[in-house]
Amino acid sequence: MRLVLIGPPGAGKGTQAVMLFERLGILHLSTGDILRENVKKGAPIGKKASSFMEKGELVPDDIVIEMMLDKVRSSNADKGFVLDGFPRTIYQAKKMDEALKDLKIPIELVVYFETTLKTIIFRLTGRRLCKECGANYHIVNMPTKKPGVCDKCGGELYQRKDDNEETIKTRLEIFNNQTKELIDYYRDKGILREMSGDLDADVVYKELAGIVRVR
Ligand code: ADP
Ligand code: ADP
Ligand code: ZN
Repeated sequence: MRLVLIGPPGAGKGTQAVMLFERLGILHLSTGDILRENVKKGAPIGKKASSFMEKGELVPDDIVIEMMLDKVRSSNADKGFVLDGFPRTIYQAKKMDEALKDLKIPIELVVYFETTLKTIIFRLTGRRLCKECGANYHIVNMPTKKPGVCDKCGGELYQRKDDNEETIKTRLEIFNNQTKELIDYYRDKGILREMSGDLDADVVYKELAGIVRVR
């Protein structure tokens, strides 16, 4: 199935997308992960994107659209995929819809994780990532066995520069002002499902997996 996960930062989009990949084999395409990879490598996209990312602002539409469509074209996207963190503006959504229609692989389902402010702040301030493999943890909710060390690869954990209170505020404003409109956009298309992002990851996953078709 081809699906999009929408939600404020910290809603659990990445966590659920990884679960869908690990348990059902659905290809996971995360704009944030791809951008961070490009920053780490010092690639041209990373150089253009990093100042926006550090401030919590959106990277310009044309850069992310090109990057994500390239990724879709070069992956086994006809077997299905989950887009995590993309689209984030109506312009991105429309451009992607046109391109995916041409490729005959339109989006079939959009899931919105409605999440309270309290959850968002707690999750983002406690989020930790692995420097080596990018695995995602939380110091309280999803701790590693050994503090500061990745369970999957033994890599060192770090806190994202943009997971600080000031930048979280900017990202939330952008979500409310630019990304939330996507909910109506997809509702009008009849492919929107809403669920609570506040619940335990396993509970959210169960509901999600219940509506995701695998082929
Ligand atoms: P979160 O998981 O907290 O929602 P992401 O990892 O998805 O954050 O994104 C991190 C940053 O990458 C964003 O703050 C933004 O600067 C950039 N970014 C990610 N996705 C997009 C997008 N679709 N359009 C523009 N910028 C994006
Ligand atoms: P997003 O991709 O939407 O920004 P993440 O998947 O990165 O969100 O989750 C944000 C943080 O919250 C991470 O540290 C993650 O381990 C933790 N987390 C994700 N989903 C849940 C959940 N359902 N319950 C508790 N903690 C969660
Ligand atoms: Zn790791």
